[in-house]
Amino acid sequence: MSVEKRTPISVKEAIKRIMKQHVEVKNINVNLDESLGHILAEDIVATYDIPRFNKSPYDGFAIRSEDSQGASGENRIEFEVIDHIGAGSVSEKTIDKNQAIRIMTGAQIPSGADAVVMFEQTIESETTFTIRKSFKHLENISLQGEEIKAGDIVLHKGMRINSGVIAVLATYGYTKVRVARKPTVAVIATGSELLEVEDELEPGKIRNSNGPMIKALAKQFGIQVGMYKVQHDNLEKSIEVVKKALSEHDLVITTGGVSVGDFDYLPEIYKSIQAQILFNKVAQRPGSVTTVAFADGKYLFGLSGNPSACYTGFELYVKPAVNKLMGAKACYPQIIKATLMEDFNKANPFTRLIRAKATLTKAGMTVISSGFNKSGAVVAIAHANAMIMLPGGTRGFKAGNIVDVILTESNSFEEELIL
Ligand code: AMP
Ligand code: MG
Repeated sequence: MSVEKRTPISVKEAIKRIMKQHVEVKNINVNLDESLGHILAEDIVATYDIPRFNKSPYDGFAIRSEDSQGASGENRIEFEVIDHIGAGSVSEKTIDKNQAIRIMTGAQIPSGADAVVMFEQTIESETTFTIRKSFKHLENISLQGEEIKAGDIVLHKGMRINSGVIAVLATYGYTKVRVARKPTVAVIATGSELLEVEDELEPGKIRNSNGPMIKALAKQFGIQVGMYKVQHDNLEKSIEVVKKALSEHDLVITTGGVSVGDFDYLPEIYKSIQAQILFNKVAQRPGSVTTVAFADGKYLFGLSGNPSACYTGFELYVKPAVNKLMGAKACYPQIIKATLMEDFNKANPFTRLIRAKATLTKAGMTVISSGFNKSGAVVAIAHANAMIMLPGGTRGFKAGNIVDVILTESNSFEEELIL
């Protein structure tokens, strides 16, 4: 039996092929409370200005600026306090010459007033105060509409709902939000050597760690995950399970069986369900055999069984696809530049991806591998918040080189506060 020849494509081309597929995104309504992490399905237009009225940014006194002209240390100008309002209250009084209204932060500027004097800028007595400087028209006033005007688009379709989006939606009274439905994901680990997590170890066997890892990665999107039983390397049974998974979910992730070994059945499985293979070889290490297919508008991700390769495949290929299925406009990972803190002397024709720790130091962003980093490694994934991307070529890399780094997690491993 001859080994199938596969032609590697670049990581970028692989991502492009995935993102080029047409997928259908359906919209649903969710409660504001449950909207975090969803993607907005419509533009949100401001129905009123923010701020909605001229208001005071300080605790102090609302005055007419014209009355303050000529004030100085030698010529303090006195104001009579005619009312007192807190946030949420509106004064019914109108300020006249040399009058003032005591006003708290957030309260609406009373009519007649066009400036606010902070308490710190006054000398107070019982019902009056004096100031020693003049105020300009609109000084210390938060103006109506200075942040957003009625009719402006404040939030865009395709935006991910974060806490700030929730604050804006709450401001405009949205108790329900129109969002894209989140896809559901099937996870199937394949390999005759695999035991379930709860199983006792046996000679030659290992526990399935990829399944729970992928479930956890998918959960970061808040999406539903269907965990299927570990599949031994049995072609007929595996075809059946993949078919079932495809009928029950929007996206199917398998791990293992993607190489050209005697029991690597994934290519056969994809063939039997007539999936269109987008690629089956990428110029990357680890995970060069990562295979992605498309069938009936659904993605099938054949990730390598090697844990580091499996993780890398999820970060590079599954994440953008999930973002696309969720209706997101921004689908790609955050990539930063960082200073490499160790040598990688061996040249590699393929792009090298290394589980790593990215840390901001006084000298800038630095990155170092997070441990033993062969494709079968699992522990280094636990200690990583980033992935170094070394381009393929004829030379190695040295400490001090500036390299591209994918941020996979936003947390730092640094115990010190770096500010
Ligand atoms: P494969 O991709 O099936 O050739 O597997 C490559 C390597 O990954 C082998 O050493 C497997 O034992 C290991 N492996 C496969 N599946 C898993 C899994 N679900 N969890 C942990 N290791 C795995
Ligand atoms: Mg296998």
